[in-house]
Amino acid sequence: MNSLSKYTSCPCWSGWALDHLQLGLLVLNAQRQVVFANEWFLRHAAITAEDIVQKTLIEVFPQFERSHFIMFLTQALTSGFPALLSQSLHPAPFPLYLPSAQRSQDKLLRQSIRIIPMGFGIASTMDQRYTMIQITDVTHSVLRERLLKAQASKLQGIANLDVLTGLGNRRELDEKLAQELRLATRENSTLALVMFDIDYFKQFNDLYGHLAGDECLRRVADTLREVCRRPQDVVARFGGEEIVVILPKTDRAGAMQVANEALQQVRHLPIPHAGSMVSDVLTLSAGVAVSDPAHALTPKALLELADRALYAAKASGRNRVCVDNAQNLAE
Ligand code: GH3
Ligand code: MG
Ligand code: MG
Repeated sequence: MNSLSKYTSCPCWSGWALDHLQLGLLVLNAQRQVVFANEWFLRHAAITAEDIVQKTLIEVFPQFERSHFIMFLTQALTSGFPALLSQSLHPAPFPLYLPSAQRSQDKLLRQSIRIIPMGFGIASTMDQRYTMIQITDVTHSVLRERLLKAQASKLQGIANLDVLTGLGNRRELDEKLAQELRLATRENSTLALVMFDIDYFKQFNDLYGHLAGDECLRRVADTLREVCRRPQDVVARFGGEEIVVILPKTDRAGAMQVANEALQQVRHLPIPHAGSMVSDVLTLSAGVAVSDPAHALTPKALLELADRALYAAKASGRNRVCVDNAQNLAE
């Protein structure tokens, strides 16, 4: 009888305490046979001590054959160093369930497992060494973590959303522009940016009221979203009634085409605008700027360039698209 077997039968304090532990304990001998399994483990595995004691883990749990868990166990046994199994990589190595739950796969307890070699210092032969496996139920903390992550990503979505139009807001634009420009540099590709602005929008508000102005902004936003249909295109509200579109992997000609189509679609809505000096319906002006491998631009420089192009479109009569070249930036 080995020194640990007393825990399995003797009503001594330590045995009693072990059986009331709220975590699973297994002790293996050098032949990897289970010499002790505590009450918690047996209850959550729905087995009896006879089912497991004096058997190897693989005899009881054949699914462990060639598993990562057995690899960690072997390492700990040979090195004498403890091991901790990552709960994200190995969420549920043992078939342990909540005692009341149905034994379905999604009710498996999430486990944090420590493998603790024992007696390495005092054992005079390898045969006297034991290994303790400690299993902590981390189901609740994993679920809490998952919930917190879901909430954080939902909050991030809200924080990056423009409430009026449902488009991305300025924060979204800044984040996506920096990200897409980095990607364009890495992939040696061209990225275009178009800045749209409604013509004579102040007059529109004055004439039809702010609420009608808001509705008009929403319709323009929806139209731009429909025109920029590639999944990687980004449409975001830059400010007031200015909307910016990021067009990855798009050259100057492609961006001009998208911008002109957007202008045409908005004209065809059509939203009457009696206060406009250029048309009897609502129109847009647009400025196009391009960052290509020969003239890679920072987000700030690209926005400045598009803003200048937009200004040129306004100055030359509105209801049109203008483009600015990177070479002009230094002027
Ligand atoms: P321009 O043709 O030169 O662009 O003339 P504009 O009157 O459109 O001038 P600007 O681009 O400076 O437009 C600013 C106006 O846009 C001011 C404000 O009345 C209107 N505006 C900005 N944001 C909103 C909004 O959220 N709702 C409404 N209804 N109007 C807005
Ligand atoms: Mg305007
Ligand atoms: Mg404006």
